[in-house]
Amino acid sequence: MAPTPALDPKLKEKAAAVRDTLAQALALHKRIAYANSLGAEAMVLTDIIWTDLPQIDVFSIDTGRLPQETYDLVDRLQRRYRRTLRVVHPDAAALEQLVARQGMNGFYDSIEARLECCRVRKIEPFRRAIRGYGAWITGVRREQSAQRAQGNPSEWDAGYGLYKLSPLLEWSEDDVWQYIRALGLPYNRLHDRQFPSIGCEPCTRAIQPGESRRAGRWWWEQAETRECGLHPNRGRPPLIPVAASA
Ligand code: SF4
Repeated sequence: MAPTPALDPKLKEKAAAVRDTLAQALALHKRIAYANSLGAEAMVLTDIIWTDLPQIDVFSIDTGRLPQETYDLVDRLQRRYRRTLRVVHPDAAALEQLVARQGMNGFYDSIEARLECCRVRKIEPFRRAIRGYGAWITGVRREQSAQRAQGNPSEWDAGYGLYKLSPLLEWSEDDVWQYIRALGLPYNRLHDRQFPSIGCEPCTRAIQPGESRRAGRWWWEQAETRECGLHPNRGRPPLIPVAASA
């Protein structure tokens, strides 16, 4: 495994635990996909996976409504790691039908319309992208939201029929940014403009001082509905032990 210079020893340990966890998961599940959200946590996981665990397949979903800064980040990542990110798009016919039904910005009209847009632009492409894998990896962290606080590092994802691994669950936001800065990793420039969590451009705004880090996502909705549907609560005992610090 490649050394990780300039990292605080504790963080180095945490990163090593993530590597070990993912290596164990690979041995167990054989085929694993990493759904790269291109957020700050994704920079840590992309670095670990593309540096040390290239057997893990990495993909991102382009909803067609991402900010330009996110597309720029994809270019920078590909240049740094000399890898091509697999980009998965919505089904063209389903997208045409969605726009015909609700218009270009119909997602503002109701929670149902918003979830339908997320379903066509994110969930269906995601479902297609993970087909045939034994597990998928996500960068969610416990402190990101009340719902995410209830997650497990390894859990059966009944909705998609495979295991879901969250190796950064116990990482703090500070851990993530220390890792990014110590290694000089690329990151989305919107993070420097009070966008801690970035999704589609029309559904993400900067946060105000004192607001939660996800307050800028679907800001017109109540906090409890602000998920795209990729991370509903699910339960089943962990299949593999995951290091406490991962
Ligand atoms: S975040 Fe907004 S634009 Fe993106 S898929 Fe969901 S509703 Fe549609």
